[in-house]
Amino acid sequence: MRLSQFFLPTLKETPTEAQIVSHRLMLRAGMIRQQAAGIYSWLPLGWRVLQKVEQIVREEQNRAGALEILMPTIQPAELWRESGRYDDYGKEMLRITDRHERDMLFGPTNEEMVTDIARASMKSYRDLPRNLYHIQWKFRDEVRPRFGVMRGREFLMKDAYSFDVDAAGARHAYNKMFISYLRTFARMGLKAIPMRADTGPIGGDLSHEFQILAETGESAVYVDRGFLDLDFADFKVDYDDVAGLQAVVDRFTSFYAATDEKHDAAKGAELGDRLVSARGIEVGHIFYFGTKYSAPMGLSVQGPNGEKIHPEMGSYGIGVSRLVGALIEANHDDAGIIWPASVAPFDCGVINLRVGDAACDAMAKDLIARLEGAGLDALYDDRSESAGAKFATMDLIGLPWQLTIGPRGAKAGTIEVKNRRGGAKEELSIEAVIAKVASR
Ligand code: ATP
Ligand code: MG
Repeated sequence: MRLSQFFLPTLKETPTEAQIVSHRLMLRAGMIRQQAAGIYSWLPLGWRVLQKVEQIVREEQNRAGALEILMPTIQPAELWRESGRYDDYGKEMLRITDRHERDMLFGPTNEEMVTDIARASMKSYRDLPRNLYHIQWKFRDEVRPRFGVMRGREFLMKDAYSFDVDAAGARHAYNKMFISYLRTFARMGLKAIPMRADTGPIGGDLSHEFQILAETGESAVYVDRGFLDLDFADFKVDYDDVAGLQAVVDRFTSFYAATDEKHDAAKGAELGDRLVSARGIEVGHIFYFGTKYSAPMGLSVQGPNGEKIHPEMGSYGIGVSRLVGALIEANHDDAGIIWPASVAPFDCGVINLRVGDAACDAMAKDLIARLEGAGLDALYDDRSESAGAKFATMDLIGLPWQLTIGPRGAKAGTIEVKNRRGGAKEELSIEAVIAKVASR
């Protein structure tokens, strides 16, 4: 992609309305534009990152056996009256009336709708277990939308819903999602700590929030220091191995970790100086709530002996758009964003210091063709800006590698490669550059 033909409305000044670094950097890097309080357009750079994050979430859901569907954003109020939540949900729910005076709403979550889908077609215990998920925009009319996409009103969520014949099955379904969450966040280079959590309006008795520690986090959290030393990617997964999964979940819940609401001061005190009190960003939340929706909404299947069973359910959310902000909170410096390779909008940036110089232009063309051949995306700064402006833009948008071509290197056949994270620079041949970027 040529920068001269791209849409990258970067800002030089620091936007004053943004209180936290991720919001500031998303605006400065031209990733988003606010359209109303808590409602954003995603511009090309931001949209690419959002899609990368979404794809990692999708792959790990699929790996854990969840099945992707797509439910609508607008829902009939009728379904919510059946569960009793239409009145309970309060002002966060955006209520809409259509031209026939029917009560509708913009979905803040989908327990009711997915239960409706299940009751129409799951008839026998043989139809279970199932886990259905979608990645869809939600609307919650938050009292205080703030921090950019971290607390929006319209936001992208992955929500999965499991259906099992009994509590043991539901526990396994819960464990599968628990572990797929560890994998999902680890692939983004994040340590998301599972913490015992309140179940809130979703209800139920078993629940974990996945929290990333960050100074700007909205939740107060308490964590055993031992947790921070755990390797979050160090386990093998066989999603059919019931005992094996339970063992991994047990290991990741053996350390004390709780959000404010669930914090047990006495237990915390026992930990002494092992107790870390910090702030967290909630990037995921999983619930087991049994028959809370299946029973009142009349979802039942026939058991092996002809008996009627209300499936045991759970729901599992990930804040896909919030993750983009959280990733920046965890990965930035004074110059800008530092994307982990797995979610970077482009794999690398190519800077041509002498646009119009035949040797430099030819080298850039050759480099980009070879990167593309290796399946790597490059953003090519072919503008006639100063070197300083080009470096500043690249630092701001945070691509993992900066590949700089100048007249001297073009003659020698070398390119200057800078790693955005460490800042280390080296002069390499085109072949070595490709290998480096491909190593991610
Ligand atoms: P919070 O406590 O942050 O308000 P929640 O507990 O109400 O979130 P859940 O119902 O658990 O949210 O939703 C699942 C996930 O969706 C959350 O873990 C979070 O990552 C994300 N999410 C929730 N509300 C928002 C929002 N207003 N903006 C962006 N992401 C959100
Ligand atoms: Mg939550």
